[in-house]
Amino acid sequence: MRYQATIGIEVHAQLLTASKMFCACRADYAAAPPNTLVCPVDLGLPGALPVINAQAVEDTVLTGLALGCRIAEVSWFDRKNYAYPDLPKGYQISQYDHPLCAGGSLEVEVQGARRRIRIRRVHLEEDTAKLTHAEGCTLVDFNRAGVPLMEIVSEPDMHTPEEAYAYVTGLRSILRYLGVNSGDMEKGALRLEVNVSVAAEGEQGTKVEIKNLNSFRAVLRSLEYEISRQTRLLQAGQRVAQVTMGWDEVREVTFEQRSKEEAHDYRYFPEPDLPPLMLEPAWVEKVRARLPELPGAKAERYRREYGLSSYDAAVLTAERPVAEYFEAAAALTGDGVDAKMVVNWITSELFRLLRTAERPIEESPVTPAGLVELLRMIATGQLTASSGKQVLAEMFETGRPPAEIAEARGLTQISDRSRLQAVVEQVLDENPQAVADYLAGKEAILRFLIGQVMRATRGRANPAMAQELLLEALAARRAHSS
Ligand SMILES: [Zn+2]
Repeated sequence: MRYQATIGIEVHAQLLTASKMFCACRADYAAAPPNTLVCPVDLGLPGALPVINAQAVEDTVLTGLALGCRIAEVSWFDRKNYAYPDLPKGYQISQYDHPLCAGGSLEVEVQGARRRIRIRRVHLEEDTAKLTHAEGCTLVDFNRAGVPLMEIVSEPDMHTPEEAYAYVTGLRSILRYLGVNSGDMEKGALRLEVNVSVAAEGEQGTKVEIKNLNSFRAVLRSLEYEISRQTRLLQAGQRVAQVTMGWDEVREVTFEQRSKEEAHDYRYFPEPDLPPLMLEPAWVEKVRARLPELPGAKAERYRREYGLSSYDAAVLTAERPVAEYFEAAAALTGDGVDAKMVVNWITSELFRLLRTAERPIEESPVTPAGLVELLRMIATGQLTASSGKQVLAEMFETGRPPAEIAEARGLTQISDRSRLQAVVEQVLDENPQAVADYLAGKEAILRFLIGQVMRATRGRANPAMAQELLLEALAARRAHSS
């Protein structure tokens, strides 16, 4: 029997607006002392009236357009009723059957195969207060209550954990490109819930939800775990119960949180304190004009324009500042420096320096122009690649130009024939056994001898010239010995 998994995903993304969804309280609560960003609206005091945040609507419409959704000319806010300490009003203002955006999609690539994942809807709601469970009590912070929250719901179009992973990472990348969400999962600015059912092909399985996934890795691992758990149950002839699961990050297992019998009846009804939200088509078109080039389109263009591999194009376009850095550098290429060389130095050396310094690329002390200047010194033979790495590290530390550093450090490459010839003779004299082996036909030993020349010059010898001079000197010795 062949089984197939069917996966759907709900993403909650806090919008980066200045104020909250329905009041003028500041939305950026991260550094604020608990319960300092509150007012009668988010506390649900009698008589307080909500007002819709226009920026939140615009951010949601922008996201919907980026995902190819239809934007509703008329949408509604509804009350989702439930009683819980994180919800002072006793209901959350959300959107139920008339969401802002519907019917989009996102293309993902898994192992070279591209697939389009449909998106059912994108709607707007308010975040709840934050509960912190301490010993013997629970603390509640209302600063988060009322922060604009966008919910993006996929169709159940994914079938493997890898597809789910590609979908959530792709979505995060788009939200960050649009500047509507920070993508910070540790701080809860982006939250993920998946649902997964396993069934024999062509049959309908039982949907299990997994909540509280705090990282992309958790999405991948929890789905792997849950798919194999459900498959084992079905193979043993048992049935899968419809439950909501949590994910234990440490033990890497799902655990049951509540069963279907305890499911809420939210008694949705239209929010009587808010009018229907009407959007002028001309306004929607104005928002559409703001759409930036998105990561997928950008990667496609990099493949076409710079001849990059799919992998390189994906790495460079995942984050907008990295793409901007690359494009600024790529615009300065020429004279032996090509886009591929720029990519290699950004993704290996520069990324390593940024990681170690824990700095984002937009704060890189090495500018795109500085990087290309360094690469040009390497391309024209003034610096070896290994000296180039040393110079880059110092540029990163001091912000000084590469020529100045190379000069001060005595790192400029030795391309002086007679000077290098002397080093080659010295290396051959110091390694008689290697020379004998080479002359006896073990030509692979040449690499060792080149290495010795590089060592004697502390990496500054022009490698091509070193090889040429070594071959000449060895040929002379062969002629001499025979
Ligand atoms: Zn408020």
